[in-house]
Amino acid sequence: MTVRVPAKVNLQLSVGPRRDDGYHDLVNVFHAVSLFDEVTATDVTTPAEDAMAAVAADDGTVTGETTPPSAATGTATPSGAMITVSVEGDPAGQVPLDGENLAVKAAVALAARAGRPVRAHLAIRKAIPVAGGMAGGSADAAAALIACDELWALRLDRRELMDIAADLGSDVPFALFGGTAVGTGRGEKLAPVPVTGEFHWVFALAEGGLSTAKVYGECDRLREAAGEPVAWPRADDALMAALAAGDVKALGAALVNDLQPAALALCDPLARTLAAGRDSGALGALVSGSGPTCAFLAESEAHAAGLATALRAAGVCREAVTARGPVPGAVIVPA
Ligand code: ATP
Repeated sequence: MTVRVPAKVNLQLSVGPRRDDGYHDLVNVFHAVSLFDEVTATDVTTPAEDAMAAVAADDGTVTGETTPPSAATGTATPSGAMITVSVEGDPAGQVPLDGENLAVKAAVALAARAGRPVRAHLAIRKAIPVAGGMAGGSADAAAALIACDELWALRLDRRELMDIAADLGSDVPFALFGGTAVGTGRGEKLAPVPVTGEFHWVFALAEGGLSTAKVYGECDRLREAAGEPVAWPRADDALMAALAAGDVKALGAALVNDLQPAALALCDPLARTLAAGRDSGALGALVSGSGPTCAFLAESEAHAAGLATALRAAGVCREAVTARGPVPGAVIVPA
């Protein structure tokens, strides 16, 4: 059971004052883009069983992968569920292979609904940059929910899956939802945003990642130092109008991310990356979420390809990839 799930970029990320519980009220305009992870859930518990299954099938006709690309450790749950995980793709080494993996957390949360001991091996194929501000871990959690729901024939309705998703993290519901949506509260209360047409993007991937918690902490610190009152966040009318009209120039001008000054303070090469994109003709440039991935809006697919080439040539990123949005949320890949 394979589920494909998109990355997100925040077209607007407005951060309100820090609440007593440490969270911030947000207005978060999420946009799903065609940079996908894949999560495959199979009913195999351990690498040893995996190997046995491979041997059982190995009459010379095995076509699939038989060796997990990374070691899989089992996570047992009180309900008797057993979940293992392996990860491949770049840079898979930074992704936890135990109960800390967000896809495992999702499967464990879902297993509690099964009412019987269930098991799954989750094979994650990563293309979404790790700790890149594109919600890759949250995407894998959403994909694992859909894949295990199907594998275990639970058939929870969308509302129930969205509730479990919201408990897992504020970016997880959107990975199920997809498209373009405005999230409020911690980002988990979602409403669809009307969009005309599609938009073309370039993402400049950075060396290493940024911790989301550290970026929020730095945002608080910068605001305290500035001593200015923090406005209550609200959805930006110009952004909504640009999306509804499919006006790419107006969208480029309306992109906003309140976390950007903090991400730039923690990772100063990003200022050069953003400047290189703007100098190469991007219609809009911003740090994606908590960074360090930078997002550039292009006029067309061809313009995006040219921008990606220019960013690579400028040596301001590890890699530059093109994508389009909006795209649907997590979907089962037909067998
Ligand atoms: P956020 O959604 O908090 O903005 P992000 O998009 O910047 O996060 P992620 O790729 O989700 O970054 O990774 C954040 C951290 O989560 C990583 O440092 C990693 O250790 C951990 N993590 C747990 N599970 C996963 C997963 N399946 N894929 C990627 N990272 C994961």
